[in-house]
Amino acid sequence: MGKMVKSVSLDIAIKDLMIPGNKVAIVQEGNTLEHALLVLTKSGYSAIPVLGREYKLKGLISMSLILDSILGIEKIEYDKLGERKVEEVMNKKVAWMKEDGSFFRGLELSINHPFLCIVDEDGVFVGILTRKSILAHVHKYLKYGIK
Ligand code: AMP
Repeated sequence: MGKMVKSVSLDIAIKDLMIPGNKVAIVQEGNTLEHALLVLTKSGYSAIPVLGREYKLKGLISMSLILDSILGIEKIEYDKLGERKVEEVMNKKVAWMKEDGSFFRGLELSINHPFLCIVDEDGVFVGILTRKSILAHVHKYLKYGIK
């Protein structure tokens, strides 16, 4: 008997591809830039989500935003790291979609964004969908999914 390959569909739920929130490195409003720098450095990611109260999605913080914000005219102002909060520096324009959105929408958004934040109907952060997992699924579909 030949090897059975489960049919692969592009009509897949976002939830089945996303990294769940409990596995995502995040910072919260009120956290200092110093804390964010620590989380970014230790996680190895260049950008991570900023969440507000009750896990509401608020923005993205990155190494380059932090460094740019402490770059003075003459020197880097390291003391600002402990004083400034992530919400003062974060990028409020976040690529996001709802968890019940379509795979096709995710694919479209991922052209310009390395990852998308996924929220529920109340705007509560539930996870991220990476370009990597979208590409892996498209690859699987092209390899096995077309009959
Ligand atoms: P990757 O698909 O692993 O190359 O991740 C692409 C981008 O998604 C990373 O640079 C991060 O900005 C973000 N990312 C991926 N996984 C995580 C995670 N577990 N926690 C936080 N951010 C992540």
